[in-house]
Amino acid sequence: MSGTDQRSLTIVGAGLAGALLATLLAQRGWRVDVFERRGDPRLHGYAGGRSINLALAERGLHALRAADAADAVLKQAVMMRGRMVHPLHGQPQLQRYGRDDSEVIWSVARGELNITLIDAAEAAGATLHFDRGLESVDFDARTASYRGDRKLHTHPFNALLGCDGAGSTLRAQMAARRDLGERTEWLGHGYKELEIPPARDGGFRIEPNALHIWPRGRYMCIALPNDERNFTVTLFMALHGDGSNDDPDFDSVATAADARALFERDFADALPLIPELERDFEANPIGSLATLRLDRWHLGGDAVLLGDAAHAMVPFHGQGMNCAFEDCVALADCIESHAGLAEAFAAFEAARKPDASAIQDMALENYIEMRDLVDDPDFLLQQSLERKLQERHPGRFIPHYSMVTFMRIPYSVALERSNVQRAILVAATRGLDSLDGVDWAAVDAQVERQLTPLADDA
Ligand SMILES: Cc1cc2nc3c(=O)[nH]c(=O)nc-3n(C[C@H](O)[C@H](O)[C@H](O)COP(=O)(O)OP(=O)(O)OC[C@H]3O[C@@H](n4cnc5c(N)ncnc54)[C@H](O)[C@@H]3O)c2cc1C
Repeated sequence: MSGTDQRSLTIVGAGLAGALLATLLAQRGWRVDVFERRGDPRLHGYAGGRSINLALAERGLHALRAADAADAVLKQAVMMRGRMVHPLHGQPQLQRYGRDDSEVIWSVARGELNITLIDAAEAAGATLHFDRGLESVDFDARTASYRGDRKLHTHPFNALLGCDGAGSTLRAQMAARRDLGERTEWLGHGYKELEIPPARDGGFRIEPNALHIWPRGRYMCIALPNDERNFTVTLFMALHGDGSNDDPDFDSVATAADARALFERDFADALPLIPELERDFEANPIGSLATLRLDRWHLGGDAVLLGDAAHAMVPFHGQGMNCAFEDCVALADCIESHAGLAEAFAAFEAARKPDASAIQDMALENYIEMRDLVDDPDFLLQQSLERKLQERHPGRFIPHYSMVTFMRIPYSVALERSNVQRAILVAATRGLDSLDGVDWAAVDAQVERQLTPLADDA
């Protein structure tokens, strides 16, 4: 084991970020040890945890390309061209995400993705230690203790890189040493996963190349396809009622019978697709959702946090993993380009913290868009104008979703421009029910005045 040697690094957590970061650093010649609390998923099966599948977008793909892992991941992925919106009454409608099939997102299975990245990390030369959960850190002695096989194992370290997720133990150990300014903002909404299995003939039961949404105002269901031709359905709603309306919540929808009644009333077209609704509802836990904000991500050159350990976010922009993957590339680059680790960690934090904060805010906003606005006529009109302005001002007016999903401009820039663009869209469509009444000269002038052309190498 590399221990305290100056070219060695210790990663805590071999989840999505940990395995990718190990690959990137080992490829750059670092000696990398990774300690993971769970068993090796290649031997014992993937132990699950959070969502079963995830949406992979350009930022994440770019990072996977840097680790030579993109092709292997895309082989197992299902393309999603847009959101298929299922209104309460009426036919589902596909709203494309981008201009064509070069602008799509991909549904990937978390377990398969994690195994691909663990294989890549080992192939690059990293050493993985499974069944080793970080328990405590002695920063003075520069040793970390991990629990596994009913024993405590103590190992020296040069620096610790925290990829141990939202409930990070490394973060707690760092906070015991220095206040990190940690705040957790609970959303008050939770989620439950259900399944649409394959059809009898082995095919998909509904359109496979889409992210399905059943928006219902203050709650919603979504479904993402898997390459095994099933869909993972996620029901999002409030954990508790506030007495101000009749909306369902996990307190009032507590039993399998309550779940059936909710689906009969609000998700009638989804109900026949989920034959084991009662079983899934009873077996699967309610996941909770929060935004984690820290003032500091690193302790000198001793330890640094990234991914969910530094900035967990609500999942409504499908960017938590994508952002964590961007972090990995940024941190590996900072480590390579700075003389010391303390400088590298400080540069990483300075570069990434504003962007993490921006995508956290956009993820919160996107819950409202997904659950409420995607079938709202005013919003749909603003979206048509957004597309028209993209055609009229290429490279200058770029839809919000495209800046976040298909480009790699900093999230903070995407947020700033989205705010300007939204004000233009709302003002130009106010009181209209079609684009016929738009004052194009005024809107074009506003776009030219308020938005500079955007350079992006993505
Ligand atoms: C419902 C839901 C849907 C989501 N959908 C999307 C999506 O569509 N697109 C997207 O980009 N993101 C999505 N996300 C976010 C995404 O899951 C996370 O951002 C991503 O998993 C973060 O990766 P990570 O490696 O930082 O943390 P994790 O994936 O949580 O990995 C942490 C790893 O550390 C290990 N570990 C924990 N404690 C210890 C310890 N003490 N010692 C050693 N190891 C430890 C864990 O076992 C795990 O392997 C979603 C999240 C949720 C909850």
